Amino acid sequence: MSDAIDREGLREGYWRTKPLSKMSDREWEALCDGCGKCCLNKLEDDETGEVALTRVACRLLDDATCRCAHYENRHSFVPDCIRLTPQTIPEHLYWLPSTCAYRLIHEGRDLFHWHPLVSGDPKSVHDAGISVQGLTVSEFDVHEDDWEDHIIEEP
Ligand code: SF4
Ligand code: SF4
Repeated sequence: MSDAIDREGLREGYWRTKPLSKMSDREWEALCDGCGKCCLNKLEDDETGEVALTRVACRLLDDATCRCAHYENRHSFVPDCIRLTPQTIPEHLYWLPSTCAYRLIHEGRDLFHWHPLVSGDPKSVHDAGISVQGLTVSEFDVHEDDWEDHIIEEP
């Protein structure tokens, strides 16, 4: 499987020593493990603040590759797609997936063995059952009122 994310030639283990705020654009983008979990719609309880994950995916998520169909110009289609940066990570921690590489590094932890930067294989995130590959339904097909019928545990 070819890697849709350019991870060629990056210094081995750079994420262990380089702070997120010092990473180049390529180093930052290469941190994404391609799990697609951040592209699932969430339900947030107004009173408790609790967040439930659903398998209802953003309209641009490709369920087979777990990639965004228009990553570079996604905001033309999905204006509220978040832009994760070293500065905005803290405000998103309450919903970021537990295995998200940006969360892990922000929390001073290491990447898991199945992360493509560690395994050298973009498929390993799918083989490890961490991604949403084959799990989703499109938000085109499920009315928002019915999202609660599609709540799932995080893979
Ligand atoms: S949850 Fe994190 S690691 Fe997974 S696709 Fe989203 S940004 Fe990338
Ligand atoms: S626009 Fe792309 S990156 Fe943003 S949530 Fe949708 S699929 Fe994910």
